[in-house]
Amino acid sequence: MNLLFSNDRRGSYPPSVYADQVAPLPPFAPLQGEYRTDVCVVGSGYTGLSAALHLAEAGYTVALLEAHRVGFGASGRNGGQLGSGQRLDVEDLERIAGTKDAQRLWAMAEDAKQLTRDLAARAGVPVRDGVAHAFRKPAEMDAARHHIDHLARHYGYNRIEAFEAEAFRALVPSPAYCGGELDHGAGHLNPLALALGMARLAQAAGARIFEMSHVLSISHADTANGKSTVRTDEGRVICDHVILAGNGYLGDLSAKVAARVMPINNFIVATAPLGDRAAQVLTRDIAVHDTKFVVNYWRLDAEGRLIFGGGENVSYRFPADIAAKVRKPLAQIYPQLADIPFTHAWGGTLAITMNRLPCFIRPAPNTLSASGFSGHGVALATLAGKQMALAIAGQSQGFDTMAALPSPRFPGGAMLRWPLLVAGMSWYALRDRLGI
Ligand SMILES: Cc1cc2nc3c(=O)[nH]c(=O)nc-3n(C[C@H](O)[C@H](O)[C@H](O)COP(=O)(O)OP(=O)(O)OC[C@H]3O[C@@H](n4cnc5c(N)ncnc54)[C@H](O)[C@@H]3O)c2cc1C
Repeated sequence: MNLLFSNDRRGSYPPSVYADQVAPLPPFAPLQGEYRTDVCVVGSGYTGLSAALHLAEAGYTVALLEAHRVGFGASGRNGGQLGSGQRLDVEDLERIAGTKDAQRLWAMAEDAKQLTRDLAARAGVPVRDGVAHAFRKPAEMDAARHHIDHLARHYGYNRIEAFEAEAFRALVPSPAYCGGELDHGAGHLNPLALALGMARLAQAAGARIFEMSHVLSISHADTANGKSTVRTDEGRVICDHVILAGNGYLGDLSAKVAARVMPINNFIVATAPLGDRAAQVLTRDIAVHDTKFVVNYWRLDAEGRLIFGGGENVSYRFPADIAAKVRKPLAQIYPQLADIPFTHAWGGTLAITMNRLPCFIRPAPNTLSASGFSGHGVALATLAGKQMALAIAGQSQGFDTMAALPSPRFPGGAMLRWPLLVAGMSWYALRDRLGI
């Protein structure tokens, strides 16, 4: 089984609301025969598209190979939240990497947000400001106050506002939360529009994009000629450098990446425009996520549709009834919407790592890989692509800082990682249900 093909029709976007809203690009022809280029990028999500764009703008020739269509993967179907920071809080990063590196990682994440906003602006994709974090327990509110203060004092970031219970309920009218915070520097956007916009920019800069081009194997650079060969069913690319940007869909293309990065599926639904009922969900144009281990996240889109994500599984197959799976957490958060009809329900595969830090690695000669953004990749994957492009151009400081972070293998290796993760996740999901 291969996650690239087990839940979606070959060459089609998933049945997301985004696929209905965004006009697809004219198809890019598959790779056929031999193609010679400086760099071959595998995968056309934000990571691969940003790498291809920045390489092409720096004057490199680039082939971008995508098994389906541009933005087919997580990038074209996610929750659209452009979050601040890394996936881990700075306090955790300080413990793992020390204060100096934590500050460097925070600064990088700020660059990532800005880069994504800049690319979105170039591509004509609106970004709306504000992402709230909803707390279920008073202790989380206390920790948030400390966190807001810590960020302001030591990281110069003062864009997060705390809301006590009543004020938060005025913003997010749900009985499930006892307070929250609102990050005015974060934002939300249509994720597929961003991916397709980045593809247009990359193409205009000269990157050559091939869709329906599933990479089956790679012969990495040998010392004889320094070239790598990337093979698809119908062709091959001969190149000086390879960038692996397949994230949760990469499969076994690199054993070193597979040992450290694990695919996991997450699910979303959308409703029809809510009209007057929109105020029952949010009273401001912001996105929200909560503190559950199996996180719930939602926002209203520009047309007033509720787009709500919740529920995940670790399997090659999505559940038969995605809508029923997501309806459960939605009904807990908004009992008044328990029976609301859904117009769309879809799933996607993202990738996580053991410590929830992205895995940047050189898995083979002249090969770079960045993946495992752990549900926080809209900004960070976009930056990762640029960092890999810069590394190929000889400016590897950003890539090297990320690659120096600990990137532990999953226990049991690629074979056993899923059963162990399922056991671990069931425990945390149970804690979510018990409210502990
Ligand atoms: C449901 C869901 C909700 C999410 N919500 C958010 C959110 O709100 N905010 C946030 O920051 N992050 C979110 N994420 C995570 C975020 O979407 C990802 O971190 C990010 O999109 C990763 O981008 P990527 O380019 O690395 O991977 P992807 O976008 O998955 O792209 C990988 C591409 O590689 C291609 N590929 C793989 N293997 C091959 C091969 N062998 N040959 C050819 N092509 C190949 C795939 O077809 C795919 O198109 C979410 C993810 C999901 C699934």
